[in-house]
Amino acid sequence: MGSVQDFIECHQCKFPEAISDLDTHSYEETIFCPNCGFTFITAPRIDRKKSAQDTEKRQFFLKRKDGKIAFYWHQNKGYGTWKITNNETGIGKIGVMPKDETKRKKWILELCKLKGKGYSVKATEFSNGIVKRII
Ligand SMILES: [Zn+2]
Repeated sequence: MGSVQDFIECHQCKFPEAISDLDTHSYEETIFCPNCGFTFITAPRIDRKKSAQDTEKRQFFLKRKDGKIAFYWHQNKGYGTWKITNNETGIGKIGVMPKDETKRKKWILELCKLKGKGYSVKATEFSNGIVKRII
């Protein structure tokens, strides 16, 4: 299993370094913008009935009327992102801000508590078409 990664322009905030990741085995493509939190996933639709009946356990994809593989796609609007880095190990974790405003405010408070306790914290918020650095 392999993957091809590339930088593309974010569909939502136009940040030039949104990350596109294409899995060359499953053909699933994920786009994640570390600036605003926009995510987009597309993958071939699996023919579960045909795949389950195959004695060699091969996986089959559903096809469109024109014979090409059918894909599903899903996107999430970004509400901002956060990044926590352990100052000692340098290991970091990145994630997206919750959609719900109340949950987002709670999470921002949690992030603020971590700051200065051995962690570096960065966070952005996306609203009205603008990405703001909030921490
Ligand atoms: Zn973006």
